[in-house]
Amino acid sequence: MFFDSALGWFSLDMGIDLGTCNTLVCVRGQGIVLNEPSVVAVRKGTNIVLENGSAVGLRAKEMLGKTPGSITAIRPLKDGVISDFEITEAMLTYFIQKVHGRRRWLKPRVLIAIPSGITAVEKQAVFHSAMQANARRVYLVEEPKAAAIGAGLPFGEPVGSMIVDIGGGTTEVAIISMADIAASESIRTAGDNFDEAIVNHMKKTYNLMIGDLSAERIKIEIGSAGPTGPETTMEVRGRDMISGLPRKCIITSEEIREALQEPIGKVIDAITVTLGRAEPELAADLVETGICLAGGGSLLRGIDQVIHQATGLPVRRAEDPLTCVARGTGVLVENLESCKEALESDLDE
Ligand code: ADP
Ligand code: MG
Repeated sequence: MFFDSALGWFSLDMGIDLGTCNTLVCVRGQGIVLNEPSVVAVRKGTNIVLENGSAVGLRAKEMLGKTPGSITAIRPLKDGVISDFEITEAMLTYFIQKVHGRRRWLKPRVLIAIPSGITAVEKQAVFHSAMQANARRVYLVEEPKAAAIGAGLPFGEPVGSMIVDIGGGTTEVAIISMADIAASESIRTAGDNFDEAIVNHMKKTYNLMIGDLSAERIKIEIGSAGPTGPETTMEVRGRDMISGLPRKCIITSEEIREALQEPIGKVIDAITVTLGRAEPELAADLVETGICLAGGGSLLRGIDQVIHQATGLPVRRAEDPLTCVARGTGVLVENLESCKEALESDLDE
């Protein structure tokens, strides 16, 4: 909260990273104040959010894959598109109000980072949701821009740099120069598809059905994109597809790496396609500035080396890749007065 002299009253500005897996909220002057899964629990077959909206975020994620018949836990942004407007709205409302607390008289200005591929209708839904959630003004920024700012790239300068944000549902690749996107590609292959590849591998090789959360644990514990050191093993539990009975088996880091090659190949293709679209002068800059990785998917072991081998460019992981976009929105809200003209806002319509 701060005193807005133009308004003559106290104000609250917040930046929101509306991710396919995780939503983070950054408040001006306070930094990141909320970091929860983008999950909502609803009554099956309806859009009715459980318990007046309290089954959102962390509590709802615990329900994924374990809900009794009458309840489903939904990730409304799973594929990088808003699959369900009402549920997205309920989620955004819940998060904004959670940060807002009891200061409801403070109508906040809200800056939301959205996937660069979303449609005009989906944008409208985001505006609408934030307004419903008591926002005074709503601004939108394309997620790769926020990621580039959060990663500390030379955002506003006439120098080309590349950001690759590997999230849960989407990978966003962008070449940034002079505060704008010079070339970009957004694909629906990211961390969730790494998990899916592991689920399929377990089915095919061991006739073992495992849940998405188990697959994610395998990825984080022993997954890699390329060889990174001593190979390890892990015990995995699931349900036998033939007998239907629970059982366990031991898997190796090598076979998981093999299983991950296909989705990783798609991420690399998106990067090379984007590089191919760069103007020669910007391409020349990239030889120096290289590629910066952000998003939770970039935490996969060895993915930096594999991208380096495929492109020949220097590759580095941003500091704290999971919070890059949120920190970028934080920088933008700190400077909202000077940058708001450059952002899309609810008054543009
Ligand atoms: P989004 O922006 O789409 O919400 P995030 O940037 O929050 O996505 O990243 C979520 C993805 O990162 C998930 O697929 C998750 O499994 C993956 N992830 C998180 N930590 C790790 C890790 N240590 N190793 C590999 N993947 C990870
Ligand atoms: Mg993200």
